[in-house]
Amino acid sequence: MQNPDPSDLQKIFKALAFAAHKHRDQRRKDEDALPYINHPISLADILVNEGGVTDVEVICGAILHDTVEDTDTTPEELEREFGPVIRDIVMEVTDKKSLPKPVRKLLQITHAPKLKEKPALVKIADKISNLRDIADHPPSDWSLQRRQKYFDWAKAVIDGIQNVHPRLREVFDATYARRPR
Ligand code: NDP
Ligand code: ZN
Repeated sequence: MQNPDPSDLQKIFKALAFAAHKHRDQRRKDEDALPYINHPISLADILVNEGGVTDVEVICGAILHDTVEDTDTTPEELEREFGPVIRDIVMEVTDKKSLPKPVRKLLQITHAPKLKEKPALVKIADKISNLRDIADHPPSDWSLQRRQKYFDWAKAVIDGIQNVHPRLREVFDATYARRPR
């Protein structure tokens, strides 16, 4: 096996340390309140080990993808620490928090066909990770109907992504097949 580029490893571990620090006081919404950082790590794991993705900017974008939406991180901070490409990946998958939730949900569907390749990969991994969480560790107060609704909305978002990575699409479809019933 080829040795990884040391500067790629440096970027990945810097992103992991940065995201772990930013999300340090946050938990997921499941009954056990798992540490939030498990989720960004799962995106990177899905991309690398299930999708075969080796692009370091995509991997770092995945690790950092919820820092602006869910912490005090700014786009300028991301650019300063990780450069403009990674900042742009994160911003492309960041909802505008000023908008009401139903509008944000609709915008994800209409924005998906416009995503460039790198943020699209992060978006697919995010939906795979969240569907697995809902299948295996759902928020305890979510009804069956709400879990089903989330699965269908996630599929509507991913169906809009053009020229999707075939391996990741297969992983998404296998995950969608676990739609609760
Ligand atoms: P939320 O957006 O509030 O929660 C889902 C998000 O929470 C995920 O996308 C994920 O985002 C994050 N998350 C954290 N922990 C978990 C976990 N364990 N499992 C899955 N996701 C987790 O909920 P909805 O997507 O349902 O959005 C709210 C919408 O639902 C509104 O539009 C509202 O109108 C509607 N609604 C529907 C109800 C129903 O019964 N159908 C009831 C109430 C509201 P991330 O990747 O960013 O962490
Ligand atoms: Zn996420």
